[in-house]
Amino acid sequence: MAKLAINGGNPVRTKPFPSYVSTGPEEAATVARVLASGSLSSYLAAAGQFFEGGPWVRRLEKEWARAFKIKHAVAMNSATSCLYSAMGAGGVGPGDEVIVSPYTMVASATCAVVFNAVPVFADIDPDTFCISPATIAPLINKRTKAIVAVDILGHPADMAGIMELAIQHNLMVVEDAAQAYGASQNGKTCGTLGHMGVFSLNYHKTIQCGEGGIVVTDDDDIAMRLKLIRNHGEVVAGDLELNEIEDIVGFNFRMPEIEAAITLEQLKKLPNLVEKRIAAANYLSKELGGLPGLTIPKVEPGCVHGYYLYAMKHDAVGTGVSRDKVVEALNAEGIFFNSGYTKPIYLNPMFQQKVAYGSVNCPFLCPHYKGSANYSKGACLVCERMYYEELFCTNVCNAATSKADLDDVVTAVNKVYENLDELR
Ligand SMILES: *Cc1c(COP(=O)(O)O)cnc(C)c1O
Repeated sequence: MAKLAINGGNPVRTKPFPSYVSTGPEEAATVARVLASGSLSSYLAAAGQFFEGGPWVRRLEKEWARAFKIKHAVAMNSATSCLYSAMGAGGVGPGDEVIVSPYTMVASATCAVVFNAVPVFADIDPDTFCISPATIAPLINKRTKAIVAVDILGHPADMAGIMELAIQHNLMVVEDAAQAYGASQNGKTCGTLGHMGVFSLNYHKTIQCGEGGIVVTDDDDIAMRLKLIRNHGEVVAGDLELNEIEDIVGFNFRMPEIEAAITLEQLKKLPNLVEKRIAAANYLSKELGGLPGLTIPKVEPGCVHGYYLYAMKHDAVGTGVSRDKVVEALNAEGIFFNSGYTKPIYLNPMFQQKVAYGSVNCPFLCPHYKGSANYSKGACLVCERMYYEELFCTNVCNAATSKADLDDVVTAVNKVYENLDELR
C-alpha cells in the first residue's frame, strides 16, 4: 500500500505554514507619526541639506551605519537601485567586464549592463553556491573592472579571499548581501566586507519596508558618488562645485520618509529575527543530517549562515530518483520546496541574444568592448547542475515557524527519503 501522498497516501500536513510578517504595531505607530508630520519626502536635486533627503532618511542612514559599524549608509528605493548605483559609483563603463554570479537575483548581474559593461559569469562553489576566488581568478583580465559577489541564500561568499584577489588586480568589489542578514565571515558582518555592500528591504527579505535598499561603504568619495546617482547628480555635481565628477548620470532612487521610518523599527527587530531564523535552520540540520541521498547546508569555517533560504542537495545518481520527483513528493506531503532556486542568469534571452538596448547588441558586441563573454549552455557547470539536478530549498526557516511546523518538515523529508522505492 502506498505511503507517500503523491501515490495516494495521507499527507504529513494539510494546513498552510504561518506567513512571515516582520512588521507590527511599532511600524504602524511610526508611520502615523510621519504622516502626521505632512512630509513624506524632502529631497531636492540641488546643493544643500535636502540633497540628502528628509529627517527620517538621514536618521535611518546614521543608525544603519552605526549598527553595521561602517562609515556611510545610503538609503534607496530598492537593492536593485543600490546595485545600479554601485556600478556607477565604481566607475564601471563601456568596454569593462564585471565578474558576477549566475546564481542570484538577476539585478546582481544586470547592474553592469545598465552602465554598458559586460557581465562575465563565474561558476559557483558546490557547497556555498557563491562565486569564489577559485572560479573568479581565471576570468580576470585587463578589461575586468569590478566583481559583484553575492552571499547567496544567506551564506557568505569568501569575501576575504575575493578581496585579496581584488586588491592584487585593482578591482572594485560590491558585496550583494540582500539575503545575508545575520551572516558573517571571520567575525565581520556581511555587507561590510567589500568596497560597497548592498542590502535589500523588499518584502521577501528578513526585514522589509515594502520596497527599499541600503548601500554601505567606508569610502567618502564613493559615498558622494552614490548620493549623486541617487538624486539627479548630473545637475547637482556642478551645484556642489564637484566639477571633476562628470561621469554621473543621476536617477531618482530616493527612499521616501515612511519607508525610512519603517526600516528604523525593523532594524531594532533584526537581531531577534535573525537569531530565530538561524535556530530554525540549525534544528532542521540537526534532524535531517545523515539521510542517505540528502546533503544539508554546509557552513564554511569562520562563517555564520543567515539562512535566507534553507537549501539542500539531492543525489539523483545514488538514489535512482530525480530531484524533481523528490520535490514533487515533498510538495504532495504539504511541505513546499522550490526545485533549483533560480535559472542561471546567462540562459535568459537578453544574454542568449546579446541585446540589451534597441537592437544593436550593446554592450555585448559594442566597438568599445574587445572581449567575448561566454553565455552558452554549459558555461557554468556547477550552477547548471544545482539548478537542473541537485538543489532544492524552502523558506520555512523563518521567525514565524514553530517547532511543530519544523517537525512537519522533518517528518515529510524523512518519510520521502525512507520511501524512495515508491518513486523509482
Ligand atoms: C532581493 C535581492 C536583490 C534585489 O532587491 P530589491 O530590493 O528587490 O531590488 C538583489 N540581490 C539579491 C541577492 C536579492 O536577493
